[in-house]
Amino acid sequence: MLSLKNIERRYAQAGGHAVLALADVSLHISAGEYVAIVGASGSGKSTLLNVLGLLDQPTSGSYQIDGQSVAGLADDAMSVLRNQKIGFVFQSFHLMARLSVLENVKLPLRYAGALLQDSAHRLAADQHARALLARIGLSDRLSHTPAELSGGQQQRVAICRALLMRPPLLLADEPTGNLDSKSAADVVAMLRELHQQGQTIVLVTHDHDVARQASRVVTLKDGRVVSDTAATEND
Ligand code: ADP
Ligand code: MG
Repeated sequence: MLSLKNIERRYAQAGGHAVLALADVSLHISAGEYVAIVGASGSGKSTLLNVLGLLDQPTSGSYQIDGQSVAGLADDAMSVLRNQKIGFVFQSFHLMARLSVLENVKLPLRYAGALLQDSAHRLAADQHARALLARIGLSDRLSHTPAELSGGQQQRVAICRALLMRPPLLLADEPTGNLDSKSAADVVAMLRELHQQGQTIVLVTHDHDVARQASRVVTLKDGRVVSDTAATEND
């Protein structure tokens, strides 16, 4: 599904000294995998996730999604690919404070272009948003604002939003980083359930308990993959 070959991401610095955030990363991720990316702060985890999520472009190397090469795509084509293939979850939720829970989950519709502006598609997306929220027990909170929810609920709403367009790939950057342990456990349980239903997930985490839930753990150090192992299941 995802194939990275010899990916390098170099940041030019004032003064001429470049930072090599990713160095010669090659990685293949198959549909249905649940991969945790771990490593010290500054090891390149977010950079790697941003490259996978088409939010950042590598300086060199090749990246293919479902056999399609990403390099050289125009910005428009890149956005279309991102909207179709990828859902993104961030550490700080990024929910819109003034929108309701339901409106937040339906937000991707606004960026989906003309295809999804017709009423049948809008209705289907509305039903999907409600179904996603029902699954996390928030059917009675649809018109609440994010601030009226716990952190764990807010992050699960953000995951629902990421899933609205049914992306084959879900990416999450430290999704439990701002949560207490109970809320983190709720989010981890949701990701685990999604994986069991076939969702492909790549997540960045500092937390070894979270990483252990994944089926594979990739460790970065100084922008390089230093280990890539099947995780021991924690049942
Ligand atoms: P992690 O998520 O593992 O903490 P990052 O991917 O954020 O690491 O960063 C990897 C390296 O790239 C770090 O040395 C960081 O300082 C550098 N870096 C990240 N983003 C930028 C940027 N926009 N400009 C310059 N250097 C950056
Ligand atoms: Mg990071």
